[in-house]
Amino acid sequence: LVVLSGVQKWFGQLHVLQDIELTVHRGEVVVVIGPSGSGKSTLCRTINRLETVGEGTITLDGQPLPQEGKALANLRAEVGMVFQSFNLFAHKTILENVTLGPIKVRGQSKADAERKARELLDRVGVGHQADKYPAQLSGGQQQRVAIARALAMEPKVMLFDEPTSALDPEMIKEVLDVMVSLAQGGMTMIVVTHEMGFARTAADRVVFMADGQIVEENTPEEFFTNPQSDRAKDFLGKIL
Ligand code: ATP
Ligand code: MG
Repeated sequence: LVVLSGVQKWFGQLHVLQDIELTVHRGEVVVVIGPSGSGKSTLCRTINRLETVGEGTITLDGQPLPQEGKALANLRAEVGMVFQSFNLFAHKTILENVTLGPIKVRGQSKADAERKARELLDRVGVGHQADKYPAQLSGGQQQRVAIARALAMEPKVMLFDEPTSALDPEMIKEVLDVMVSLAQGGMTMIVVTHEMGFARTAADRVVFMADGQIVEENTPEEFFTNPQSDRAKDFLGKIL
């Protein structure tokens, strides 16, 4: 579904993505881990074209990523993204946050968008908060709204960039639970996270990045019990 081939990216002198080859199949859950600064966020951002690449190609469903205009807006809808900071619109209600994209980008009627939004908000456990504003919700609730907002666009793939790292410990689980149920429901997901429990239970594959390269790729069982590279051994030694 998502194929990165020979992807190179520089920030000035910094070779932040080095010859990235990555294929994510439909329904697959890929967890990306690696040290700070290894290029994980940049990798995610190239997939919905928040960043352009220097060389190489990225395709979604066999099509190269569009450059601009309506096609780019559609791409951003098809590639849902959830960040560390929830990025909800502060002056819109929870319901409006979720319906805005479907109405504007997908051309849904307000009634359809609202019905769908309420379903999704129920699904992530914040249905009763629909008429509140983001600041009235906890961090964990806001992050679940952010997930519902991305899902409302009916994405083909969901990208998560450290979705729980800004949350208080007691809120992490409620967000991870939503992600696990999405994974079990067959959503294609690329997840940057330090939550190794999530990686072990939900990931089909773990991709380990260091210094802009994919150093290792394996099933979670293999990766955690039998890392191949020194970089991965060193990293796991620090975090486990
Ligand atoms: P973390 O775990 O800390 O989130 P990361 O693996 O997500 O790290 P990136 O955010 O992708 O790492 O950054 C990779 C490298 O690129 C870092 O050295 C970072 O300083 C640099 N970088 C990121 N964005 C930019 C930018 N817009 N301009 C210049 N350099 C950047
Ligand atoms: Mg990052």
